[in-house]
Amino acid sequence: MPGTNLTRDEARTRADLIRVDAYDIELDLGSAREGGTFRSTTVVRFSATTPGADSFIDLVAPSVEEITLNGTALDPASFADSRIPLPGLAAENELRVVANCAYSNTGEGLHRFVDPVDGETYLYTQFEVPDARRVYANFEQPDLKATFRFTVTAPTGWVVVSNSPTPEPVGEGATQVWEFEPTGRISSYITALVAGPYVGVFDTYENGEQRVPLAVYCRPSLREFLDAEAIFEVTKQGFDYFQAKFDFPYPFPKYDQLFVPEFNAGAMENAGAVTLRDQYVFRSKVTDAAYEARAATILHELAHMWFGDLVTMEWWNDLWLNESFATFAEAVCQAEAPGSKWPQSWTTFANQMKTWAYRQDQLPSTHPIMAEINDLEDVQVNFDGITYAKGASVLKQLVAYVGQDAFFEGVRAYFKRHAWGNTRLSDLLGALEEASGRDLKAWSKSWLETAGINVLRPSVVLNTDGEIESFTVLQEAPALPAGAKGEAVLRPHRIAIGFYELVDGSLVRTDRIELDVDGPRTEVPELVGRHRPAVVLLNDDDLSYAKIRLDEDSMAVVTEHLGGFTESLPRALCWASAWDMTRDGELAARDYLSLALSGIGRESDIGVVQSVQRQVKLALDSYTDPDWREQGLLRWAAAAEEHLRAAAPGSDHQLAWARTFASVARTDAQLDLLAGLLDGSVELKGLAVDTELRWALLARLSATGRADEAAIVAELERDNTAAGQEHAASCRSARPTAEAKAAAWASVVESDKLTNYVQEAVIAGFQQSDQRELLAPYAEKYFAAVKGIWETRSHEISQQIIVGLYPALQVSQETLAATDAWLASAEPAPALRRQVVESRAGIERALKAQAVDKAAGAAR
Ligand SMILES: [Zn+2]
Repeated sequence: MPGTNLTRDEARTRADLIRVDAYDIELDLGSAREGGTFRSTTVVRFSATTPGADSFIDLVAPSVEEITLNGTALDPASFADSRIPLPGLAAENELRVVANCAYSNTGEGLHRFVDPVDGETYLYTQFEVPDARRVYANFEQPDLKATFRFTVTAPTGWVVVSNSPTPEPVGEGATQVWEFEPTGRISSYITALVAGPYVGVFDTYENGEQRVPLAVYCRPSLREFLDAEAIFEVTKQGFDYFQAKFDFPYPFPKYDQLFVPEFNAGAMENAGAVTLRDQYVFRSKVTDAAYEARAATILHELAHMWFGDLVTMEWWNDLWLNESFATFAEAVCQAEAPGSKWPQSWTTFANQMKTWAYRQDQLPSTHPIMAEINDLEDVQVNFDGITYAKGASVLKQLVAYVGQDAFFEGVRAYFKRHAWGNTRLSDLLGALEEASGRDLKAWSKSWLETAGINVLRPSVVLNTDGEIESFTVLQEAPALPAGAKGEAVLRPHRIAIGFYELVDGSLVRTDRIELDVDGPRTEVPELVGRHRPAVVLLNDDDLSYAKIRLDEDSMAVVTEHLGGFTESLPRALCWASAWDMTRDGELAARDYLSLALSGIGRESDIGVVQSVQRQVKLALDSYTDPDWREQGLLRWAAAAEEHLRAAAPGSDHQLAWARTFASVARTDAQLDLLAGLLDGSVELKGLAVDTELRWALLARLSATGRADEAAIVAELERDNTAAGQEHAASCRSARPTAEAKAAAWASVVESDKLTNYVQEAVIAGFQQSDQRELLAPYAEKYFAAVKGIWETRSHEISQQIIVGLYPALQVSQETLAATDAWLASAEPAPALRRQVVESRAGIERALKAQAVDKAAGAAR
């Protein structure tokens, strides 16, 4: 994507020169139903500290019709490389730009979607990181805040929502005009516009004198599934909790949440107009884990209204702080807010965020949390597990380190001091130092400026009576992959150690101590003389960020009794540790399968169950000895069927097992069962074979050659919705024929017509772990095509292809060699290189784990 970058140095120079006062933006969306382009007129007033200096404004548009700077017309042809040069600025300036901007189908800029159910057009904007410039000319960097006044022409009868409250539209005829009030001073990336015949549900947040209008919106075709009350309930709990903790009233005039189609991320924190992916409006039964995840997203975006929107990072190098804070805030709110339905949120945090962070932190691309972000391409590939999950984990450790009361006291001072402004990390750390009285420079250096994960292991020596003679916590420096940035250091860890005893088959915590671990060996004298418990668990309560290893005796107990922990968090920590050991080749994949089979039946936390199910499938597909893999898959599929049949009717566990079984069924009898569930000839008590489950069944039947095109068409007739079309595309590309693979490949690689969601579905269907041979020829095609994809497609679309079509199923030395040859000859841009290097690391890890699994098999 040449010509769309902006470097940090350029942004800094521009911020030194310019102060933006106000934008007046007119958008004519009368063309929305036809698509193509729309007229965008920006009038921006700004001052310059050095009159006579030159600068530029950002715009991505097919054409520019008019550029007028301080009354002088400039040549529209000067618009090039996504910039309009602004020569010879005055002290006070007024710039007018008239452009024809394009509707997008990639989820970036102004996304245009036509709902097959009603044929209506739905628009929404997505601007983070640098895509406001696809809709209106602006100074696209977070520290050039301004007020924004939008005037929007749109078809009569539409709903038009932006950051300011929606006015009554004026005018008569086919289109009307919505004249919004100016916003407060905000950054361009959190401005927003959502327009179309959306439907809304309304409520009010009330707290004393305070009244904040609330609304949720979706397309009419999803209205019957929109559980607005549940969404308002979580939202109001968040308002109560955050306003109290932050001691700062909600800063915007209203709070809309809009569920929009084909959204790339989970949600986006546009000021007062949050957009969320509309899969969060559940069309079919989902487990409680999905409701929990949605609530977490709602709270995450709400926390951003203060942290991110009211106070904003100066540059994208502090994106991690923005995301980590919101991620920490969502979990702490769920854990503590009165009435929360998910007080076990730290279990979910350990199960999901930590696992994500640990995985990302072991890739060759790992980097310190404080990443060097030199330009926009750097930040676009940095929405990663370090930025969100490791950052949030380390923030949790920081809270343990300074204490939660001091943490929030610092946060309160920070909001008051910097409201409507921009900050750096040092501003927050300074406020926390004042509140806690602790010097955070050393802490910050060891946690934020280094990469990788420490390993913590217990060393327990017993005397002849079986009492503890010495107890030592051993800390290892991170094993950084070759080429990784950052230093591998030991860190200070605030951790808890839990002692667990077996009582009637249950593992019950009998003791807990909290201590600081520092350096390679930390002796724990207070444990000397105690009886050795059944399980010693380091980092109990998950305060720190580290790989945890169990000693041999504890491991033996956990292998047999993992499901026996009475609390969900230690179970989640042990599951995570076992998974981590499997990935690291310390536990053979077949032994992980045994562990899962013995423990999962007693696991009550549905989110953990679903994670383990995914991990077992991944272990079988990637980490088992290929000669043994089929045996393992058969064992897992048989277990899935047993659990499905044994699960309580109508329970979340039943649904989770149904979906797992649908993904692994392989014998004729198992596939017959899938087909029977789909055609209704077989029923399992309590299991609703609803729209989404039907597609899951059909996907497997398609991939195994049991369902043909006619079956796919028939299903699409039952569910001719956007989601149905995506599922159908996925089923087609999953079929086990060379023609199906070729068609899928051509539609993604040789054409750019697919929308972001359909493309994602096609890629998911294409990659089938049971079709390695059929897919083998595409490894070569991938390396021939990938650079061209990067250079010609938008960021989101190319990332889907680069990561999704990498020959990850071809786990072999040949794939490593082909990747290396491409890396050596293709001269990829750093962001492209990073994505391929990460994929390569998956092959390397799988080869190592497969060797471990093979050796374990040979040893038996
Ligand atoms: Zn966020």
